[in-house]
Amino acid sequence: MKPAILGGHPIFPEAIPFTQPTLPSYDSLEPGLRDLFGTAMITNGRFVRELEGMVESGLGVKHAVGLSSCTSGLLLAWKALNVRAGGEVILPSFTFSATGHALIWNGLVPRFVDIEPDTFLMSPTQVKEAITERTVGICAVHTFGNPCYPDQFESIARDHQLKLVFDSAHALGTSYHGSGMGGFGDIEVFSLSPTKLVVAAEGGLATTNNKDMARLLRIGRDYGNPGDYNCEFAGLSARMSEIHGLLAIETYRSLLQNVERRLHMAQLYQHHLSNVPGISFQKIIANSTTTYKDCAILIDETEFGISRDDLAQSLQTENISTRKYFSPPLHKQDAYTDLASNTLGNLPITERVCNTILCLPMYSHMEAESVARVCEAIVRIYEQRAEIKTYFSNHKP
Ligand SMILES: *Cc1c(COP(=O)(O)O)cnc(C)c1O
Repeated sequence: MKPAILGGHPIFPEAIPFTQPTLPSYDSLEPGLRDLFGTAMITNGRFVRELEGMVESGLGVKHAVGLSSCTSGLLLAWKALNVRAGGEVILPSFTFSATGHALIWNGLVPRFVDIEPDTFLMSPTQVKEAITERTVGICAVHTFGNPCYPDQFESIARDHQLKLVFDSAHALGTSYHGSGMGGFGDIEVFSLSPTKLVVAAEGGLATTNNKDMARLLRIGRDYGNPGDYNCEFAGLSARMSEIHGLLAIETYRSLLQNVERRLHMAQLYQHHLSNVPGISFQKIIANSTTTYKDCAILIDETEFGISRDDLAQSLQTENISTRKYFSPPLHKQDAYTDLASNTLGNLPITERVCNTILCLPMYSHMEAESVARVCEAIVRIYEQRAEIKTYFSNHKP
């Protein structure tokens, strides 16, 4: 069979999504919505509190605070930690922009370090080497749901008296040595946006075992107002509405089932692609379960025969959308070019991964049959790699 890029029929007659939120039935939401419209309590009501309670008991963490987004949670986390302005925070450049933006908004200086080539996680060794007297904190990211050495970073932070925030945007549903995320470091922040597993339409959650931090996060989402309008600090308007809370409650109920489904899908991808040279999967940390927020592969051009970009374009003609997360990495983005080059760092692995990574379609209700056909397309492209390589060399400026 000819790949579509060479004129064959696309494997999918209609485009399949790269990702899609897995929503609860409308009927399951209706009683809650009826209640909301009846009482007119559309914010600061019982649903967000109920969601927070479910997350506290589900993750085994003392405090969960519902928020308008993960980004606002990260802003408030660094605000609540009250670190010295101008201090450096160590983070990966291989992450979503918001991880870094939260530092900039708090007057902190991002100090990027490299990742590991197979787990895509910030390397604890590199972090230790990057700590100086200017360092005030560390922000670790559970990339695609792979837990970022929670206990190792806790001990590094403790040894050097640094604040530790986890950008846990991808990690609601991750487990590490049998327990969920949520209680590691000073504060963890989760995202409930539509590309994540638990969906509030837009929303976030900050979790902590520290009572004082929890109080500051609660005040912080409410302008900094402790209740008497005499604001303690310059907070945000970053509450989660009751409508969002209700949706999040219903999607949270299916979390474990959806994590299992994605694990199954990732295993199918690995199985179907196991004989294709030049493809490797993200290595998951031992004794843990990832959420597969994304199912990422690396393309070794020499072994696979064509580049990651040519594969992505060939898949697009098969009606298969992919993403190159997280490319460009933060240190290459315009928003960060003003930073001093010493804080931008030398990040060869981040750059290599950004040039070779490809995230394959993945959503909790994806059919096993669709996974098989995506793999069939990749195998077909691999088999005709020589012709495709010629095609691209004739179609490039
Ligand atoms: C999605 C995401 C965020 C931002 O989440 P929002 O809820 O959209 O603000 C932050 N960090 C990472 C790693 C993300 O993937």
